[in-house]
Amino acid sequence: MNKFSLQILLLLFLTITPFSNPQAQSRVDNILINEAERITRDTFTFSTETPRGAHVFAVNKPTSKMLNSIDAGLADLFTVALRNNYSKRLNYSDYTIFIAKADRGKNNANQYSPDIAIGAAQYAGSVYDQGGFIYAAGMVLAFNPCAFVIAEHTKDFQRVSEVVRFEGEHLVLYHNHRKHYNKTADHSQGGGHPILQ
Ligand SMILES: [Zn+2]
Repeated sequence: MNKFSLQILLLLFLTITPFSNPQAQSRVDNILINEAERITRDTFTFSTETPRGAHVFAVNKPTSKMLNSIDAGLADLFTVALRNNYSKRLNYSDYTIFIAKADRGKNNANQYSPDIAIGAAQYAGSVYDQGGFIYAAGMVLAFNPCAFVIAEHTKDFQRVSEVVRFEGEHLVLYHNHRKHYNKTADHSQGGGHPILQ
């Protein structure tokens, strides 16, 4: 066997190695990162974890206030999920949060509201449509693993916790109550957050 074919074999081996190893984990991360970068057109160069173990990818090094607010939002989410007798995906480490660059700092009412611009899709022509795109506080990126994107905040960290809880609601419902998930996933059909009481 020459050196070249050995390299190909090694490559093949790397491609088909099973899920539960670091290479496969970083492969899943890379798929997620590509999806987040496609949607936000940002570059996520920082990777870290919250104090309670949620995974974070960010455009800038996240402040401890951002990270603690993510944990607080997930804590609220898990509390309300347990109240509804849901049990799946209630670990901090089940969640990956992307912190994107805010595409606007204020909403139409001139209030602090860091949001991300995303393609309008099913919101085209609705009240949310800004001309081919909409502003969103957050957006679900993937269900396995549970991932969503929010915008970077420099104040009003309570809002970060809220957005985390709200995006998390979609993911918890997806894994625990698919019918309810299907009915509440698309806000252009009416309905908003909080979904779970
Ligand atoms: Zn939502």
